[in-house]
Parts: sequence; structure tokens; C-alpha cells
Amino acid sequence: MPRIQQLGASIVNKIAAGEVIERPASVVKELLENSVDALANRIDVEIEAGGSERIRIVDDGEGIHPEDLLLSITAHATSKIRTAEDLFGVHTLGFRGEALASIAEVSRFHVRSRTADSVTGMELVVDCGAVGTPQPCGCAVGSSFDITNLFTNTPVRRKFLKRPATEFGHIAEQFTRVALSHPRLHMRLVHNGKDVFDLPPTERLSERLELFYGRELSEGLIWVESETADCRLWGYVGHPSQTKSTRKGQYLFLNGRPISDRSLSHALTEAYRGLVMVGRQPIAFLFLEIDPALVDVNVHPTKSEVRFQDSQQLYRQLLSVIRTTFLGLPLETSLRVDPSGPVSHHARGPADPHQRHLSIDSSRGPHRPFSPHVSSPAVSGSSGPGFPSAGNTTVSVNGPSSSPGGSSPVSSTAESTSPETTTDEGVRALQIHDCYLVLETPEGMTVVDQHALHERILYEQFKQRMLDGEIEQQKLLVPETVELSSREAALVTEHADLLAKLGFGIESFGHNTVVVNSYPSRLRGLNFSELLQDLSDRLEQPEKAPGRRDILDSLLQMMACKAAIKAGHRLASEEIASLLEQRHLIDDAHHCPHGRPTALVLSRAELDRQFGRLG
Ligand code: ADP
Ligand code: MG
Repeated sequence: MPRIQQLGASIVNKIAAGEVIERPASVVKELLENSVDALANRIDVEIEAGGSERIRIVDDGEGIHPEDLLLSITAHATSKIRTAEDLFGVHTLGFRGEALASIAEVSRFHVRSRTADSVTGMELVVDCGAVGTPQPCGCAVGSSFDITNLFTNTPVRRKFLKRPATEFGHIAEQFTRVALSHPRLHMRLVHNGKDVFDLPPTERLSERLELFYGRELSEGLIWVESETADCRLWGYVGHPSQTKSTRKGQYLFLNGRPISDRSLSHALTEAYRGLVMVGRQPIAFLFLEIDPALVDVNVHPTKSEVRFQDSQQLYRQLLSVIRTTFLGLPLETSLRVDPSGPVSHHARGPADPHQRHLSIDSSRGPHRPFSPHVSSPAVSGSSGPGFPSAGNTTVSVNGPSSSPGGSSPVSSTAESTSPETTTDEGVRALQIHDCYLVLETPEGMTVVDQHALHERILYEQFKQRMLDGEIEQQKLLVPETVELSSREAALVTEHADLLAKLGFGIESFGHNTVVVNSYPSRLRGLNFSELLQDLSDRLEQPEKAPGRRDILDSLLQMMACKAAIKAGHRLASEEIASLLEQRHLIDDAHHCPHGRPTALVLSRAELDRQFGRLG
């Protein structure tokens, strides 16, 4: 083994650069953070060829003291903290004193800077770690950084750069994060000489969101706000109909710093459970303000991960603020007549100038606020992730089938079909196409999807009964054996305890055969082998290691879907009334468990306007 040697400054910087400066976007991120810390009002970013040719950032911030210019590119030199204690009170985005040294080590780095009380500026060039001599120069107050030849002295890293468009995409993302967390900053981004963003300063986050995401999306956003002793949380979350296939529309800022946090992402997903389609992700722009003493930002070189002193508490705060906000909102998807005439996908039919076109409007409409009856465990629970345990599950064998608000609108086959029904609340309803219920409401009219609504009601009831340990179970006098594939049999028997919570009594019978002793009464009449196959599909979820709660939820959804009345089923008048009356007994009657809307609303005002009854 050779003797131990102290590494030189240059190699130390290179090692650090490897961690901090991964790609051109990392340079942009660090420089933008510095400009924000320097209290700039305006930042201009110019990029060439995705940053591999050139990155230029100019700010009008406080500038670097002329005598500090050399220090600024020295590793572990910072104006932002002085002592170890300061680490627990970081109010700036930077504090590690690593970025400029790292960038200067792997590029040709040219800085010019001037403070307000200096007559001239100073400039300095560092060429891949070779430090020049600071020289006076003429420049405006503030700082400018010109980075060329990025990674030319680290050819491997340069080789791994993606296409300029891809690298620019990462840069734009970093730019976006700063722009969203600092709406008061005038920010401009230019790529290959073309303006990509030119964002005027604004006091309102919503205006900035509109510039980035367009009017339609930003108008559908829902404001959330909550404050505890330790944390103020505020921002916008998307309407459940505004989703993405990835988490890319989710932004989380802690004291102005963009962060990623698994637990908080999970809380967000939880908040939308049952409101968005499986596999879709909500969008969110959320800001946390926390005393810096309660969070450790010094966890990762890029500072994007942090450690909260009480992450459980934050989890609950985030989940509950969104859930409670949703409970107060009419989340029905509202039907809006598009005043601008036919939209493209409607334009196929013959152009009839008298026929107006309905489009689905994801924004909030002027609807009746719905009154939650059963509070969801997500809101009332205080235990963070995981179902409250249904510990002492007792199963009532052939118990009473209908309690008040009970679950059976389909009590008999529909013989006494009536063209029109009036519910106890006096709402007139009509079933059309054996599939939809059209309601006359004080606000206008609502169209309900009978299957989706019933599914939602059953889902909530199953869930509540499972939590109460009261799922009604049908015992089989003669247990039924079902042959499955070996994978299916293994999954079903492995999860027998979970299935028991839902009313299934299932045991292995050797090989690929299982025995069914009992099943949830509401699933009467279903084909067992098909049912067990579907169950096993749900048990084998694609995501890595799904939690018990996710599996249970997925099983509940499946049961609800199977037990619900189907489209094409003619309903009797009492069934329609019963179904509609149960709407108000559940937290979210507006979406089926898969996230499809259960009801569309066309307001009276909209009808009047379209028929020219209003001025
Ligand atoms: P850190 O931001 O962690 O302090 P950096 O290496 O990014 O470390 O920057 C080193 C120092 O250079 C900063 O502490 C700051 O004093 C100064 N500095 C860097 N960029 C700017 C800027 N745009 N305006 C004013 N000062 C700057
Ligand atoms: Mg910095």
C-alpha cells in the first residue's frame, strides 16, 4: 500500500465538481441560486447548444466585493455562513461555498462583478482550474458569469451529455423552479439567440403559473393554505381532472428552495386517492415555510433533499389541507358550452350553425356544495400513511343487509320502470339510455353515470365497513374449490389475511387449487374462478412493493366495480331515488374510484346564455 498523501486543491475541486456539476443544468441551477441570494431583481440567462457551448448569466444583484473575487472561486469560501451553528439557520439557497470553485474547475469560467459602492468592476478568468489575475473592468452593478468549454477537461462527462435539446430541457426546468419560487424576479431565458421565456416581475404566483402553463390549467388550480406552529404551507394544487402521467407537474419548495421529498410526494398522492385515474399524477405547486432550525438542508451536495425534524407532522398537514379543501369544493366536472363554437374533435359532424357544442370544463363550476357525511379516514386519521388497522374484524354472517343509507339501490329487477322519478328532496330525475340519469337541480341540470356513481357509493361503503370490520359475508355450506394458475394460487393464498378483511375465506388446497369458504355477500352470483383471477391480478401490482393499503384499496375498487349496477340496466323509480339519495352520504360522489367523473353539470346560467335569455 502506497503512503498517504494530502490531495491538492485542484483535484479536491474536481471531485466536488463531480458531485455538484453533473450537467449544464447544474451550472445554471447554482448560478441562479447565487443571483437570488445576491438579491437580484433581474436575471438573464443565455444558453447556446444546450449549455455545452455557452452559459451566460447576468444579474443586477449586490455583486462581489472586488477583493473577494479570488476567494469566490475558492472551495469552501462563502459569504453565507460563518460558523457551524449557522448551518442550522440557513436562510440562503447556497451555503457550501462549492459551486463557483467546481464550475471553474471544469470549464472556462469568466466572471465580472461590481458592488454598488465600487467605481469599477473586477473580472477574473479561470481556465479549467488555472486561475488568472483579477483585473479592473467596466461593468454594471451586479455579476455576470460566462461559462464556455464545459467539461472539456473531463471528456467522459462531456461524452455523456445528451442532445442539446435534452440538456436544454433540464436547464429550462431549473429556470422554471426559480421562476416559480420567485415571481418578483424579472427573468429571461434565451436559447441559441431565441427568447424562450421573458417573465415580467409579478406579485402573483398565479400570473407566473399562467405564463408557464397556459390559462386553462392555471384557472383550474385550487388554492390551499394551512398554518401550524411550525409550518406555513400554501400554494396551488390541480383540479383532479388535471393530471399528468408523471410527477413532473409537482413542485415543492421549502423556504424558496426547490426540494424533492418522498414522504410529501406520497402525501400528495394520498390526497388524490380515488379522485384521479390510477397511474395519473396530480399537479401541485406547494410552498413550505419552516423555521430553518427545524430542517437540515445539509444532506446532499445539490441541496435538493432535506431532512425535516417532524416529517410525520408535515405529511399530515399536507394531506389534510388538500383533503379538507376538496371537501368544501364541488368537484363535479361541469359541462360548459363552448362559446367559440365547435372544437376540433367535434368538427367532424355536419356544420350546423344552430347547434352548440358541449365541452367538458375541468374548472370549478357554480354548483351546490356537497355535504360530506362520513369523514374520510384520510382527513380525520392522524396516523400518517397506512390504513387504521381494522384489528378486531368481526364478520357478520348473513347480517342485516340494509342499514340506513344502506347499499342496495338495486333491490329487485326493474319491473315498475317509470319514466320520471322524484327523489325525497324533490329533485326530478329521468333515466336515459339505461345508463344515465338526468336531474333537474336548482342550479341547472346534472347528468349522472349510474354505474360510476353506484361504484363510488359501494366503494365508500365497503371501505367503511372494512374499517369497522363489518363486511357482510356469505358462508358456503359446501366450500367451492377453484383451480388457478400457480402464480394466481400463490398470490391469493399469500394474501389470505388481507382478503379475509374483505370477507373472503380462502385457503390453499394444495397445488394450484384453492378452497373458497366464504365471500362478500355483495358479490353474490359472480363466477369464482374469474373473481379470484381478477383478485390475484390486483394483488400483483406493477409498482415496487405496494403497501397493504394500496392493495386493499385496489381490491375495494374492484369489488365496488363488480357489485355496482351496470350501464344498460333499466332502473326502477325507487332504485333511481335510492341511488341519488345516497349521493350525499359519501365524501366524494363526484368521481368513481377509478377517477372518472360520476356527474356532469350544465348550469342554468349557461343554458340561459346559450339560448340568448341573458343580455
Ligand atoms: P455559496 O453560494 O454556497 O456561498 P458559491 O461557490 O456558489 O458558494 O459562491 C461563493 C460566493 O461567491 C458566495 O458566497 C457569494 O458571496 C459570491 N457570489 C457568487 N455568485 C454571486 C452573485 N451572482 N452575486 C454576488 N455574489 C456572488
Ligand atoms: Mg452558491
